[in-house]
This record gives sequence, C-alpha cells and structure tokens, in this order.
Amino acid sequence: METPSEIKNGQRELLKRFLEKDPECVKGARELLIQWGTPVVATSTHFVQVAKVKAYLKNYGNCFKQPELLTIQGIGLNNMCHNNAKYFCDLNPQFTTALGYNVCSCRCGGLMTFEIHTVVKDSRTGKYWDITKDYNKEEQKWFVPLNLTHHEDDAWDWNDVFHKKYNSFSTGSSNCKNCNITWKTSTPLLNAKTFIKDVKAFNERDDDDDDFDEFMRQHQHEMPDFLREMADSGCVVYM
Ligand SMILES: [Zn+2]
Repeated sequence: METPSEIKNGQRELLKRFLEKDPECVKGARELLIQWGTPVVATSTHFVQVAKVKAYLKNYGNCFKQPELLTIQGIGLNNMCHNNAKYFCDLNPQFTTALGYNVCSCRCGGLMTFEIHTVVKDSRTGKYWDITKDYNKEEQKWFVPLNLTHHEDDAWDWNDVFHKKYNSFSTGSSNCKNCNITWKTSTPLLNAKTFIKDVKAFNERDDDDDDFDEFMRQHQHEMPDFLREMADSGCVVYM
C-alpha cells in the first residue's frame, strides 16, 4: 500500500512541532543517537518467526491483536515513538496513536523479544504505520498491537501501566546459547495472569476518562486558555 501523503510529506511539520513544543526531546534523541554509534545488533525483525509469535500470544487471552509487519517511514525522531505518534496525530487528525510491542528475534528464533512501541493508525484504511526512525536501519518491523478498547489516541494515559510496568519482555530465557547472545539480564517474563488483569483494568478505567473528556467538551467555553490548551494536548487537567 502506498504511503499516505501525510506521512510522505509530513517530516518538516513534525520536526517543527518538536522544536516548538518539546526541544528537550530533540536533544534526548540526538544524545541517544550519539551513544549508540554503530551498534552491533544481535536480534532483528528479519528473524521473527510469526507462527511462534502467534502461538506465544495465545497465553494472553485477548490482550493483543494479530501481529503485523509494518513498513517503517522514519520521519520522526529515533527512540521517541510515543512523542512522534502523539505530535503526528495532533497534526493529522485522520491518524490515531496505537500502542503495542515491536518484536525482534535472534537468528535461530530461540530468543524472541518484545519492546513497548507506539505507531500511528490511518483511520481511513485501518492500516498501521511506524514513523519512528529505527536504530538498526531496518525498513520493516513486526508489531503486535495491544487490544485496548478506548483511548488508543492518547499516548500518555497508558504510560504508567505499559511503559513503566511492561516496558519489555522476552518469551523465555533472555539469552540464546545457540546464537551466543544475551538480551537484557533484567528482562522479566510476562506473567499472563497479572498482565491480563492489568489490561482489563486499564480498559475499564478508560470508561471514566470518556466521561471526563465529555465533561471537558461541555465546559470548554468556561475554561481559561491555559486549561484548554492542556486539555487539547491530552494532559489530565484537575479542576
Ligand atoms: Zn538464537
């Protein structure tokens, strides 16, 4: 499928938005890029065995949607997928942010890794696009969307649950003796029972946010400018 024009021609506007709203983020992305230098990457999208991913995800009930191979159009900053998606969707309302995990694998498929990732979804076609520059110059990425029932368009709500608590995990041990690699020593396994419970709680919690958003819409004209601005940018505003 052809790249939507909003993405194809959107880099300038997106980076301008970053410089205006979030210069610290630009600085952070630059520092990370320098730190990496030329990384030796042991796992890759290319080695992912999708049947294995699907089998693994069955342990997690309906927490995930089916894995998809996305085309990377890296118009955003490296490492800043959440911010890239958020700002891009602010600029292009036909798109919503979508939260999930990007999947990589070692050469033999013995070590499969999942890292939290945000992409954008074109609401006209239902197709996901990855707009974050990849660390390994990869052009495609296996992505497993989380099955969130509400608020996929809000990149911040879920930060506490998914980014902080379930940032990354592997499917078994965090090393592959076959390929002689260790991913991250601290990589937790994903506890199915706890994870399913948290996703369910998260989806239920969102119902309250819908009420809150409705309240904000109804009372918008009574709000001072700065509150409106905060609400527009997706922040939770306490009144
Ligand atoms: Zn291996």
